[in-house]
Amino acid sequence: MAKNIQAIRGMNDYLPVDTAVWQRIEQTLKQVLASYGYSEIRTPIVEQTPLFKRAIGEVTDVVEKEMYTFDDRNGESLTLRPEGTASCVRAGIEHGLLYNQEQRLWYIGPMFRYERPQKGRYRQFHQIGAEVFGLQGPDIDAELIMMTARWWKSLGIADHVRLELNSIGSLEARASYRDALVAFLEQHKEVLDEDCKRRMYSNPLRVLDSKNPDVQQLLNDAPVLGDYLDADSREHFDGLCQLLDAAGIAYTVNQRLVRGLDYYNRTVFEWVTSSLGAQGTVCAGGRYDGLVEQLGGRATPAVGFAMGLERLVLLVQAVNPEFEPTRIVDVYVIASGAGVQSAAMQLAEKLRDADPSLKLMTNFGGGNFKKQFARADKWGARVALVLGEEEVANNQVVIKDLRNGEQQKLEQHEAAATLAAMLKQTAAI
Ligand code: ATP
Ligand code: MG
Repeated sequence: MAKNIQAIRGMNDYLPVDTAVWQRIEQTLKQVLASYGYSEIRTPIVEQTPLFKRAIGEVTDVVEKEMYTFDDRNGESLTLRPEGTASCVRAGIEHGLLYNQEQRLWYIGPMFRYERPQKGRYRQFHQIGAEVFGLQGPDIDAELIMMTARWWKSLGIADHVRLELNSIGSLEARASYRDALVAFLEQHKEVLDEDCKRRMYSNPLRVLDSKNPDVQQLLNDAPVLGDYLDADSREHFDGLCQLLDAAGIAYTVNQRLVRGLDYYNRTVFEWVTSSLGAQGTVCAGGRYDGLVEQLGGRATPAVGFAMGLERLVLLVQAVNPEFEPTRIVDVYVIASGAGVQSAAMQLAEKLRDADPSLKLMTNFGGGNFKKQFARADKWGARVALVLGEEEVANNQVVIKDLRNGEQQKLEQHEAAATLAAMLKQTAAI
């Protein structure tokens, strides 16, 4: 027998039981985005490699070792997108959306990173993210964070995530902090591991989020970024903190939070959870006022975040037992007898005409009533419509509430209204 071909390691199939969960979650997330006036943008999943190198930075985990890069048939270097911000900025510049304008955008889709697959970390994963262009005040940073807080509330996970916040200041402030940090690290080289030693000169701020406990211990005595902030960045950050305080959003300032991508400045934040083991960052973002110009556009302030959907799904399932995936079937149509199948299909069509949101499945493949009721249960239907030869002859139908077993016989033209009332009732329970 031929050997089965399997999916690529770290890239998942999402089966109907999974997509029912994903759909409900995505619907909730999109509703909240819409309630703040955000519009969707869709960009290709492949871009020219230099876009990511320039945007994300050469000395970052993503660009150094995680990108799926290949030459196309013309020898042009392409990369499967590892994140969404660079593409949004590229598209915004290309279509003239950014200069002198305000944009509130969101995207959703697969991202690709060559990482070691484990729980909450995959090679193809999905992000939903938002990007705001043209606004520089801390008020929009605060509103973005408030929007994410609303997500947690509407998904029932608010008690399981906490907000970490920092300001990494301007490029110049970071440069002078960098010098101070390198000078400190040079005096303590013996504590640094290979990774940190390499980073110390290429991208020293990344040493701050080393997972090595000895390095973390050492950093307790290191200079702190907050002491090097420029006055404007400090004021911006104070403004953000005040707005979050006023909105009742709790946060901790984490001076070592610097984020892994080079384009950030000023505000950086992460929503983290302790409920998922090592992969604890659910949502992360910040301000990137320099990126549009860096990619060839006119200077445009910008702020955004991205959330990993796999981690969100894991979290919702781990901590919210009341979460309900989308239902596939509300009503199951049961038909038995000569010529009844055709009548059942016609009745089903009429009911879909009457209420396009109805989720209605007609039995196929025959079977006695008992077998068909068993299928109705298997699909999770709340109501069964039952047709036999006698009902068809009299233009009637039996409606059975599958939760309490009550049933009644109706004229077919009354079915739509009765169904609507029954489903509303069960939805309220
Ligand atoms: P981490 O520190 O976990 O590697 P990151 O800093 O690389 O995360 P970002 O680039 O900021 O992550 O991406 C934002 C979010 O996307 C993360 O917080 C996480 O939820 C999700 N994410 C990132 N990489 C992966 C991955 N390989 N698999 C699943 N989700 C991911
Ligand atoms: Mg990473």
